[in-house]
Amino acid sequence: MIIVYIESINGQLKKSSLEVLTYGKKMATQMNIDLAAICLTPCDPQKVGDYGVSKLYQASDVRFEHFDSKAFTKAIAEIFQANGGKLLVLPFNQNGKALAPRLSVRMNAGLVNGANALANTANGFIISKNVFSGKAVANYQIHTEVKIVSLASNTIPAEKNPTTCEVIPSLTTLADADFSTKYIKSELVSGDIPLSEAELVVSAGRGLKGPENSGMIEECAKILGAATACSRAVADVHWRPHHEHVGQTGLAISPNLYIAVGISGAIQHLAGVSSSKTIVVINTDPEAPFFKAADYGIVGVAFEVMPKLNLALKKLKG
Ligand SMILES: Cc1cc2nc3c(=O)[nH]c(=O)nc-3n(C[C@H](O)[C@H](O)[C@H](O)COP(=O)(O)OP(=O)(O)OC[C@H]3O[C@@H](n4cnc5c(N)ncnc54)[C@H](O)[C@@H]3O)c2cc1C
Repeated sequence: MIIVYIESINGQLKKSSLEVLTYGKKMATQMNIDLAAICLTPCDPQKVGDYGVSKLYQASDVRFEHFDSKAFTKAIAEIFQANGGKLLVLPFNQNGKALAPRLSVRMNAGLVNGANALANTANGFIISKNVFSGKAVANYQIHTEVKIVSLASNTIPAEKNPTTCEVIPSLTTLADADFSTKYIKSELVSGDIPLSEAELVVSAGRGLKGPENSGMIEECAKILGAATACSRAVADVHWRPHHEHVGQTGLAISPNLYIAVGISGAIQHLAGVSSSKTIVVINTDPEAPFFKAADYGIVGVAFEVMPKLNLALKKLKG
């Protein structure tokens, strides 16, 4: 059986979870085995069924309201092993990155983190992932009986495949000591849209020349309903807050749309944004490395392009 681990925010399935559900369904069809899902937070079983999953293991424990990698690992492993799981698929997001190695050790399972394609199961189990910040693709063979794959965002578009989903309430044997952290409180750092989950992101680079010019980035984000981000160079000089810094040493994001304004596209920046579905680059320098990674590029001065873009987007939004 293939079991996918999915997550919700305020009862809604995350985009990354819809992608792993779609991936799990395709793998289950290819391997001709059953597919189920584990969700430790509240979610609508019919929405899970929409993506082809007929069994949902749901553990309702108020302590799962806040993520705890140690406790979640134990709960997922218990449910997975009790139900004859052979392949576990989970998202390669912040939580998935914390869970996958722990689950791998706990279940003695071979793991490929950040897979970027369906596995080739014709002769064994071979799966690929991007390496060297996306400059090369490596193939891995998993030999163990139980296998774990965490899926890079935007590998596969979410695709519905409706079926009826049965909920199987699942008890776990977690004691309070199985939780390694205690939730105290959370504060929204900025905006309404958390950057790590945003589907649209508008990002500022040093080409903006100063913090006083951030307005056009914020305006663009507001029109689109996007989150704002920035390069490290911009965060380092405090033009934008540090929690917006994306890249190798910042947040890794995979939105559907990433608009980079005045960012050169250094490899350390690309490491955190190159798995975005569509990249738009606005830069004065036609030789800027970012254009090589871009789907659409505008060679131009941000202060001229952005007001026109914002006006056009406003008109488009009606
Ligand atoms: C170990 C290490 C880790 C790092 N981690 C990260 C990381 O996580 N994230 C990150 O972002 N960086 C990271 N960096 C820094 C990275 O190497 C770059 O220095 C940084 O990304 C550059 O930011 P930038 O593109 O905003 O600025 P710049 O490199 O200064 O580029 C500015 C760009 O704006 C263009 N421009 C100038 N004026 C305009 C204008 N008026 N309109 C439009 N375009 C204009 C220029 O042509 C240029 O391409 C790291 C570096 C190291 C060594």
